[in-house]
Amino acid sequence: MDKVSELIDQSTKTWKLDLISSRFTPLEVKTICCIPLLVYTSGDKLVWFADNSDMYTVRSGYRCLINLHINDSMDTDYTDFYKKIWGLNLSPKIRIAIWRFTKEFIPTTVNLFNRRINQSPICFSCGEVPKNFMHTLLICGLAKNVWQSIGVDWSNVNVNMDFYTWLKLVFQNSRHDFSEIAATAAWALW
Ligand SMILES: [Zn+2]
Repeated sequence: MDKVSELIDQSTKTWKLDLISSRFTPLEVKTICCIPLLVYTSGDKLVWFADNSDMYTVRSGYRCLINLHINDSMDTDYTDFYKKIWGLNLSPKIRIAIWRFTKEFIPTTVNLFNRRINQSPICFSCGEVPKNFMHTLLICGLAKNVWQSIGVDWSNVNVNMDFYTWLKLVFQNSRHDFSEIAATAAWALW
């Protein structure tokens, strides 16, 4: 079998379930059969993907190259950062927590209050209303004391900083074992 089209019954535009089941695992069969097939087909044509008009222009080509360059350098940055996290000697729950902090996939006191899960948006430790979740991890008095007591440089911390930017700076200036301490402290503070 060379082509995906051999797995498709062209007269009914459906997947050939018997053939697919004989070649793939049950999970793969399920995944393949979930892919919708076009009932009506039209001839192939070339379109320029980076513009809604489908037509290539020098201007949109230039813009596309600039965006690719920006995304590439950001991707390399993120990849190096996550490689570092996954290379540390940490338990999976701490690694996953750090990943969630960097993506901001976490319930903040303000969010929980807005969804009527918490009675109040106020921080339990200091009584302030946090601007964002960085309050708990960095800005609040307790967090600040923890970071200062383990010797993290505080000179570049500000309220508008996101967790990814901050932890990346800590990792850049730290030994391997200190990065492990910093990641564990962040997890414990949350
Ligand atoms: Zn606080």
